[in-house]
Amino acid sequence: MEACNAVEREVDKVLLKFGAINEHAGTVLRDLINHIESLKKELEEAPSDHELTPGQVQVLKQAMTKVRDTVQRLATDHRDLHSTVSKVGKAIDRNFIADFASTSREDVFSGPEKTHLLNEVICRHFYRQGMFDIADELAAEASIESDEGSKEPFAGLNHILDCLKQRNLEPALEWARHFREPLLAMDSSLEFKLHRLHFIRLVQQGPSKQAEAIMYARKHLTEFVSRHEKEVQSLMGTLLYLPNGIQSSPYSHLLDPTLWLDIHDVFAKDACMLFGLSVDSPLSVCINAGCTALPALLNIKQVMQQRQVTGIWNGKDELPIEIDLGKQSQYHSVFACPILRQQSTENNPPMKLVCGHVISRDALNKLTSANKNQFISRLKCPYCPVEQNPEDARLIYF
Ligand SMILES: [Zn+2]
Repeated sequence: MEACNAVEREVDKVLLKFGAINEHAGTVLRDLINHIESLKKELEEAPSDHELTPGQVQVLKQAMTKVRDTVQRLATDHRDLHSTVSKVGKAIDRNFIADFASTSREDVFSGPEKTHLLNEVICRHFYRQGMFDIADELAAEASIESDEGSKEPFAGLNHILDCLKQRNLEPALEWARHFREPLLAMDSSLEFKLHRLHFIRLVQQGPSKQAEAIMYARKHLTEFVSRHEKEVQSLMGTLLYLPNGIQSSPYSHLLDPTLWLDIHDVFAKDACMLFGLSVDSPLSVCINAGCTALPALLNIKQVMQQRQVTGIWNGKDELPIEIDLGKQSQYHSVFACPILRQQSTENNPPMKLVCGHVISRDALNKLTSANKNQFISRLKCPYCPVEQNPEDARLIYF
């Protein structure tokens, strides 16, 4: 952020200077042109055999000198401006890091097979975003076989999302009705929320829509009473305030425009869940994660260079430091062994002991081998005194 501010300060300087020069040049040129124009007019009006008096010659000479001087001055101003502009470039170089080479591994993407995979990921991302033209073009150029099946759900969903953005509920309602059973099985309240928005829109239009609103509620909201009793009650409550408008009623929160943003998210989430898709495009998740991690990686690179330990971490499949990408980038629980204080991995998975305590397999092996002088290997749980056979420990999955 500090870097952005520093560059912005330089840009502001350029803009200020440019504005001043522009204004100044404008007035100077306007005056000059007016002066020349009036001289020209006088010359044109003079009889054709008129000879210039020494005074008139002097005036013309002065005008020419003035033009030359002004042009020169403008050129100097322009040069000055150029040096200020180039300072912005220098500020960018100084404040931002352009060399990301050490934070990525090129071999990850090299080779025809990997390029193909990468193209496929990009192509799917475009299908997801509803950019079918671009995706089709890419698929043709990179010879990716795109089956209609992978395109189909996104085409429909993006159309409905666009309609929702324009506050058109009909396509989404039709979709929700069509998938009512599986949506209810997922405990989704999408259909109710869509009907609620329609009802609120009617009520918002005042007493003239009262009958229509009541009809709508009878037809569509009654079936949701069992699941959304409180919400239906407050919707009905709005009818009491219809004559004076619900803006000034205890139900004014129902007019909150965020409900429209919310329905967009609810639809996207439920539809993706129904089709077994992730809500966010995997490609954008990766790129966002990379952008978040980049500053930390660049920092560690600097530290490693200073201490001359760059050789220690080279091309391994793990990062030299732990990077926190925030809650929204955590997809599964992480188990850390309470004994070894390490996160579990595929090679060192969590193991549940008979007593119910969980430790990592490495810890289990260490505790068992500490007792190996006995004939039968027995393990005493480090958290409760239960003695048990380490063979009985079970691998668990999160
Ligand atoms: Zn125990």
